[in-house]
Amino acid sequence: MSRLALHGGTSVCSRPWPKWPQSTAKTERALMAVMRSGRWSVSGLETDDGPAFDSRFAEAFARYNGVNFCVPTANGTSALMCAMQALGIGAGDEVIVPGLTWVACASAVLAINAVPVIVDIDPLSLCLSPGAVEAAIGPRTRAIMAVHLYNAVADLDGLLALAQKHGLDLIEDCAQAHGARWRGQRVGSVGKVGTFSMQNGKVLTSGEGGACICDDPQLARRIYRLRTDGRRLRCEPAPLGHMSLEEDGPGFAQNACLSELQAAVLLSRLEDLDLENTQRALQAKALRSHLEEVGGFGFQHTAPGTEATTLYHFPVRLEAPEFDGISAARIGEALSAELGCWVHTPYPPLEEFPLLASGYSPRLLTSPRVPEPLLHARAAHQRHVVLAHWLFLTDSDAMAQIADAFAKVKQHAASLHARQGERP
Ligand SMILES: *Cc1c(COP(=O)(O)O)cnc(C)c1O
Repeated sequence: MSRLALHGGTSVCSRPWPKWPQSTAKTERALMAVMRSGRWSVSGLETDDGPAFDSRFAEAFARYNGVNFCVPTANGTSALMCAMQALGIGAGDEVIVPGLTWVACASAVLAINAVPVIVDIDPLSLCLSPGAVEAAIGPRTRAIMAVHLYNAVADLDGLLALAQKHGLDLIEDCAQAHGARWRGQRVGSVGKVGTFSMQNGKVLTSGEGGACICDDPQLARRIYRLRTDGRRLRCEPAPLGHMSLEEDGPGFAQNACLSELQAAVLLSRLEDLDLENTQRALQAKALRSHLEEVGGFGFQHTAPGTEATTLYHFPVRLEAPEFDGISAARIGEALSAELGCWVHTPYPPLEEFPLLASGYSPRLLTSPRVPEPLLHARAAHQRHVVLAHWLFLTDSDAMAQIADAFAKVKQHAASLHARQGERP
């Protein structure tokens, strides 16, 4: 094989990769319908076009997840904030969050003046380690935020047992796991409340967006008013030209509503979610067996009881001795050059996000607590590369090419060692 593409050699492939997000004719029709309806938000005035898309998507997504209630939100961060507030979590309370996840898991806790307690992950699942969670539980702990990260379901047996034993609420952050199934249920329906992000990169997206799901009507009512400036939907449909929201009594709340345009996009794209999840899973299986043949790579474990994971990113652990002493970021660059697509590393340990480390905003009463070093989170960041989900909306040829690129980079790994004076 030729030199690495990173060093001027011929790349393994020059195929066009799928773009993400993807729009369908149905999505575009739905968007035009909203544009012409005269109502672009749930807080717009009632038209004769039927219920708001906000309600229609809420109903469809609740049904999809097998729960009684869904409240769409502006984004995944506000879904987490509404969920925690609705559970009565506030200033000074502690919420346990995993050491390997998007920064919003901690910043959402800070934003309600609670304390994110950042604990280590399980090295194989890359999700919360129940052992690390239990060691961090103290008198101010109120909730555990489980994140179903990348292509796995977190250890819900272990985390549920801990939540029960210590009287804590389990929040499932499903921003990366729309549609995953565990012991006959969708993820998000196992804990007290499940939250979702529909940001641009997620497997169900409207560019920005989010949702909370739950079974408890009181909790759903509180989440609804928290995201709707303290209002609720009228019980009877409002007359045409009137607002279908009404005040819902005292209590602090903010506006975290989704626009009708976004809700319509989500409603139309939800129809394709299962099909796309199935295709990604199928191709990932093919890639995994190719890479097992090459040798030197490890794969993310998922919890016992998982019936289907959702592939958001596909992490590959770099185990071959050839990779020793070369940063995962460097190997990702080499793979990117071979494939012409984005190959990157997992998140850094959560405590290292500049957003959390940048000192104290005058708005905040608290800062994160990190009781133990995040050794496994750090190792995960240093020893994996991750592939984005849209690369898997392809065929088995594409998977063979990805595996070829890994094989080539492994074979030429020695040429990736930093030369003197060079940044590794
Ligand atoms: C994307 C994401 C969020 C935040 O969602 P936004 O819609 O960007 O606010 C929270 N948690 C996880 C695990 C995420 O991946």
